[in-house]
Amino acid sequence: MADGSQPALPGVRTTCPYCGVGCGVKAVPDGLGGAEITGDAEHPANFGRLCSKGSSLGQTLGRETRLLHPQIGGARVSWATALDHVASELQRIGGRYGPSTIAFYLSGQLLTEDYYVANKLAKGFIGTPHVDTNSRLCMASSVAGHKRAFGADVVPGNYEDLDTADLIVLAGSNAAWCHPILYQRIQKARQSRGAKVVNIDPRRTATSEGADLQLSLTPGSDTHLWNGLLTHLADADALDVDYLDAHTQGFIPAVLAARASGGIGAVAFKTGLAADDVRAFYNLWTATPRVVTCYSQGVNQAVDGTDKVNAIINCHLATGRIARPGAGPLSLTGQPNAMGGREVGGLANMLAAHMGFSDRERDIVGRFWKAPNLVAGEGMKAVAMFDAIDRGDIKALWVMGTNPAVSLPRADAMQEALKKLEFFAISEVVASTDTAACASVRLPVSAWGEKDGTVTNSERRISRQRSFTECAGEARPDWRVLSDVAQRLGWGDSFAYRSAADIFREHAALSGFENSGTRVFDISGLATISDEAFDDLAPVQWPVTDTGRGTKRVFEDGRFATASGRATLVAIGSSQTRATVTDEWPLVLNTGRIRDQWHTMTRTGLAERLSSHISEPFAEIHPRDAQRAGIVDRGLARLETLSGEVIVRACITDTVAPGAVFAPIHWSAENSSLARIGALVHSAVDPISGQPDAKATPVRISSVPATHYGFVLSAEPIDFSAVQGVIYWSRSTIANGFATMFALSGGHDEAWKFADAMSAAGEKIALTDTATSTFRYATLSDGRVEAIMFLGTTCNLQPSAWLKGLLKREIPGPTERRAVLAGRAPDGAADHGAIVCVCHQVGTARIDRAIAEGCGTPDAIGRNCAAGTNCGSCLPEINRLLATFARRGPKIQAADKIAKSDQFA
Ligand code: SF4
Repeated sequence: MADGSQPALPGVRTTCPYCGVGCGVKAVPDGLGGAEITGDAEHPANFGRLCSKGSSLGQTLGRETRLLHPQIGGARVSWATALDHVASELQRIGGRYGPSTIAFYLSGQLLTEDYYVANKLAKGFIGTPHVDTNSRLCMASSVAGHKRAFGADVVPGNYEDLDTADLIVLAGSNAAWCHPILYQRIQKARQSRGAKVVNIDPRRTATSEGADLQLSLTPGSDTHLWNGLLTHLADADALDVDYLDAHTQGFIPAVLAARASGGIGAVAFKTGLAADDVRAFYNLWTATPRVVTCYSQGVNQAVDGTDKVNAIINCHLATGRIARPGAGPLSLTGQPNAMGGREVGGLANMLAAHMGFSDRERDIVGRFWKAPNLVAGEGMKAVAMFDAIDRGDIKALWVMGTNPAVSLPRADAMQEALKKLEFFAISEVVASTDTAACASVRLPVSAWGEKDGTVTNSERRISRQRSFTECAGEARPDWRVLSDVAQRLGWGDSFAYRSAADIFREHAALSGFENSGTRVFDISGLATISDEAFDDLAPVQWPVTDTGRGTKRVFEDGRFATASGRATLVAIGSSQTRATVTDEWPLVLNTGRIRDQWHTMTRTGLAERLSSHISEPFAEIHPRDAQRAGIVDRGLARLETLSGEVIVRACITDTVAPGAVFAPIHWSAENSSLARIGALVHSAVDPISGQPDAKATPVRISSVPATHYGFVLSAEPIDFSAVQGVIYWSRSTIANGFATMFALSGGHDEAWKFADAMSAAGEKIALTDTATSTFRYATLSDGRVEAIMFLGTTCNLQPSAWLKGLLKREIPGPTERRAVLAGRAPDGAADHGAIVCVCHQVGTARIDRAIAEGCGTPDAIGRNCAAGTNCGSCLPEINRLLATFARRGPKIQAADKIAKSDQFA
């Protein structure tokens, strides 16, 4: 433009790449690679709202950490060279050892079109059945439970059911942090219509803040609770006998098996709950026709995950509370396209388009694909696949869009196993990950904002992910990379796709091919969609048959996808699956997520505001267990299991039960010294679904003595891994740089030497006090802050939010310089305490002040200090601060301790 400004660019409607809620996003590109991000008001998953992660997407579009060029052995090569190499290695290994020595490990982050091409290439052309996905770690038990009950992997209901349900049960789901937009929808139902919420979780979490009844049951006792409910429903004459007669099978064996769990007293004993609480839950369920049960990883990630799923579904089937408005089981998937991966057959136990490996299904798929090498049966599921790599049975692996060296159970052993591969390629967005470190071939692929295709959310809703910016460097879409390799292997005609739309049409056509109503997954109504219509495709729920319209609810007519057309109640045994604790391994480790980070932080870790709530790896430990181990709050704790160890900050809190430890999964070797939680998790799996049990690993804890603690704020990341005496470090993103927390062992002299060695060149202001082992400095260049380091002996030493904002800022005079060394803003106004609301950077101290000034509701607090007025992800914590104030005055909450950022002892 004449004035040099950029022309206004149109907004692009796309979908959030994080959780399975599948929120619509509107991105307005700035023409420079960035974009302004808002929620899409017309998307039915979120109606314009985004949680903290979604609304921070604009901060994650930077290209500094991207893999920009193909690499072989760490050296940059052309795409032609890389693709030739991949094709020849697959050919060599397949020819020498057989195709089943080749494996693909995919991801719920991939688009459906990428997934489809990978699955087709592997199972139809290369001829290996070993295609699995990180969704195995997320919802495989739900898939297995759906298939046992309904005959197909189908979520019957939808999010609208939450708007009309009178009772919403959350089972093994910290939805307030993991599915925040749905949680807000649930809270709206509670506040506006008086819907009741029951939260079933061994831990008290942010989700508990919005529950009318919290059931903190003993880990592994879930099936007793649900079996007891089925018994109670039968005894209370609360069954829907007509529905059972007309539409189900297996009720008698199911109810007989359920009776083994006993009545309310026995269930209370087995679950560790108060009998009154069990009774209250059962009475509420019995008396409420409109019940939705949402369940997530706390149900799925268990050795009896599939049984838990079916125990829940049994209760819905027995009361006919399924596939009706406001009623039904609702599996909340963790990833944005876990369901899309299931649709194409991206799990090792599926072939394609919801078809398995029967002769008829193989015949259908084989003819449709014109597949020369169609596989004969199931492949190995994730844990078994990586064990096979360890044994040397799998020789070649291609990983796409996931970081298994961090996320798999026994992650340390699995990372070592990757080094045994003859050929290991990754398709990645990020240049450096724990997995990438082991790969010989690195292929740069399109990231969110660059890719184009579809994803399917937890309610079967297919939405478009649209590109709004050019690919970084030489990055290409995954499907194109796969197709180019297929072409080099001689199958170019079968992979001659020009666009994601081409692939989508083929995928849709396969779903309807010789279907005739035999398979619920059918989107053949979209098989002839034009390129233009694909570009404009509005969110739609499958099935989409020849009417071209979607389907809100499946199985409404009571006809299911089993051979008999009846849903199956599954008899669930009464064995309790408690982890085996011993004197040596006396506690049980539960793993999960935190509010503002996603998976291994390769994207959310780039957004400074997402690190302002919780910035360090930690473990929640009950005060009793902490005291026995000599662990203090914010001190360092070592967690050890049979498969690995980590060192993290201790957060001592009674939100976990005695005997339980909770640790979040997000940290990797990229951003911490020893906090890869996957390394601790045992490899026990559900025998039906193959899903790992990430919720119950026997563990022991001990205190890690440190002599000094501190932090460095620096413009560039500092590599602490080789620095002598550093026994712990973790790094997070802040404005204009990084904050690295660390702890030292060794004496006073070593600490001073360390401090000296870390001192950056330049103008320096410093405060040292040898008597108290206090060392603080800031270096400046042209009056602007280049680095800040504090070292002391207290484990509470943390940078305030104000201090974190100083990098590259001018420090004008002596007052401000003194303030830097004091760690507090000169007027104290900028220190808000632990950040609760990341959108407006409002902390506990500021919220406490608002409460003390008379704000008695989240709305009033929002009006006072803006906290909670944007994405709303922090509303549960604001409610907790309100509740605590009412109980005992404004004090920092246990779960916030790890995040509090203004203490400077
Ligand atoms: Fe993304 Fe948050 Fe919506 Fe999940 S709830 S899809 S993370 S904006």
